[in-house]
Amino acid sequence: MRKATSEFTLSNSWMILALLALATTAVAQQPAPAPQNSSTAATTQSQPDQSQPAQGQSGSNMTPPTTMDQVVDRVIWREKELIKFLSRRTPIVETYLQDLAQDPQLGPVPQDDHYFLGRMDFSDSIDRSDFLEGKEKKDEGMEKRLLGGLTKKFKFQYQPLGFSWMVFADRSDFDRQHYDFHYARREFLGDIRCLVFDLTPKKDAGRGRFLGRIWVEDQDFNIVRLNGTYSRPHRNDYYFHMDSWRLNLMPGFWIPAYIYSEEGDFTAGAKNKIAFKAQTRMWGYNLKAAMASDELTNIRVDSVKDETASAQDATPLAAEREWQQQAEDNVVERLERAGLLAPAGDVDKILQTVVNNIVITNNIDLPRPVRTRVLTTSPLETFSVGNTIVVSRGLIDVLPDEGSLAMVLSHELAHIVLGHNLGSQYAFNDRMLFSDEGTYQNLGFKHIPEEEAAADKKAVEMLKNSPYAQKLDSAGLFIKALQKRAPQLSALLQAHLGNNITENGTVTRMAALATSAPALDWNKLDQIAALPLGGRVKLNPWDDSVEMVKSQPVAITSARDKMPFEVTPFYPRLSRYNAATTPAASTTAAATTPAATPDAAPNQ
Ligand SMILES: [Zn+2]
Repeated sequence: MRKATSEFTLSNSWMILALLALATTAVAQQPAPAPQNSSTAATTQSQPDQSQPAQGQSGSNMTPPTTMDQVVDRVIWREKELIKFLSRRTPIVETYLQDLAQDPQLGPVPQDDHYFLGRMDFSDSIDRSDFLEGKEKKDEGMEKRLLGGLTKKFKFQYQPLGFSWMVFADRSDFDRQHYDFHYARREFLGDIRCLVFDLTPKKDAGRGRFLGRIWVEDQDFNIVRLNGTYSRPHRNDYYFHMDSWRLNLMPGFWIPAYIYSEEGDFTAGAKNKIAFKAQTRMWGYNLKAAMASDELTNIRVDSVKDETASAQDATPLAAEREWQQQAEDNVVERLERAGLLAPAGDVDKILQTVVNNIVITNNIDLPRPVRTRVLTTSPLETFSVGNTIVVSRGLIDVLPDEGSLAMVLSHELAHIVLGHNLGSQYAFNDRMLFSDEGTYQNLGFKHIPEEEAAADKKAVEMLKNSPYAQKLDSAGLFIKALQKRAPQLSALLQAHLGNNITENGTVTRMAALATSAPALDWNKLDQIAALPLGGRVKLNPWDDSVEMVKSQPVAITSARDKMPFEVTPFYPRLSRYNAATTPAASTTAAATTPAATPDAAPNQ
């Protein structure tokens, strides 16, 4: 089984900090208890249970279907409604892919990686624009094939669109003329009772039709999960297998959120040479709406008096600080609007607590408090602008404990303490006027090597005075693990806004801490140097908010369970939209619902 997240070494103190920071909201954020033991809940009825009345969601005030045919009609109708609903949305879509090679001890491990970041446009087909195009031209001239076909002539170059195609089973022809629907069984996915159908394209339905299984929730009959591939590729094409998940982030609709893809055969004598695993995440669905409500707020803010303390003009130093602040605010606001920065929230409070611990114990006096924010993307990077430290979601995910988090934050804090201010040019508002996709071409926060070295030195100094002085072994181990994998993970380690943590496959950032750390040993099961991606931070695809995952740790039973920096399947715990709480669906393997068997006894 590879459903382990290696969180059992999660430092207790980080957990405690997290609890302290969240104390006021913790009660409201408790996920609702599962209504029943989901592992045994299944029935063998061939018809939906009519005794379950549909409840207060849009679409459910219709008469419940009474036959399986009517259920299928409803599923088709809901899918078309979703396609309509999303047609004006342009969410961000990120695919991170690891090519795999067999390691005798660790099993399939990454040997190379690829990263794609773009925006989906659902308007009349599914299209994708790219944030990275200007920087990395290697995808230029790539064939714009539909349906995620992978062209062998192109030496297996991955097509980013291919990984996001399976947001819908079939965007144009999802109907009975093109598909046979076979009811399979009932099954719980998290809190959601689902009807499961196998879909096969009709004989004359043409190439590239969906072939696989769909899970449909039993109130409104929305598809919540799709698993399969596309049928009958052309001779030179290849279709990926995908597992696509949706979340109920607004009343009546289940929004495409995660897609896991995997190919590869590692059995002895296998001929198929392609082997990879990839995670695709979608978010930023509500970006346009967020802007509209901003406009309203701005009108109101205009009537508020400027409450700046000073009644006079600013002194030169005060003006300089004001200017930096303006640049910082511009950048933070612009990144948030582009969907690249999560809105301020609870994860920031945890990061901020760690920063404060270092600040206080070092008697650092700063004119303004340091703020922290989370970049919504996977590549491991950090940067600071003014007094705001930004850390990527992917980097927080892979850090094993609070000591390593302190290491990451201390480097950026050192830049701030040393006055290495970057980004004052962004105080000019014309510099904020670019398309979201142009973010990486228009913003950048890279320090010169001398400032990097100085920040590392200062950071180590500050850590040694801090409560983390005794926890630097784990930080050093993290650097060792990163060093081990760095040559294979150049895409994950490619910073897009800040400085790279590595240079030519060698870790440069805070590398001094590795020298005093214990030896890296894959066979020591209690030594967790780095975590897989996706285990810590949960990103809400609708409003981009982030929160810490609260799943039960799963015990590691072999070196293969460690999976440092690796991609794993998604297994969100599905639940229904609840306006009272943050829509919750954790994305860790720990929330796995075992597949219900047809003969399991119904328990309710
Ligand atoms: Zn730096």
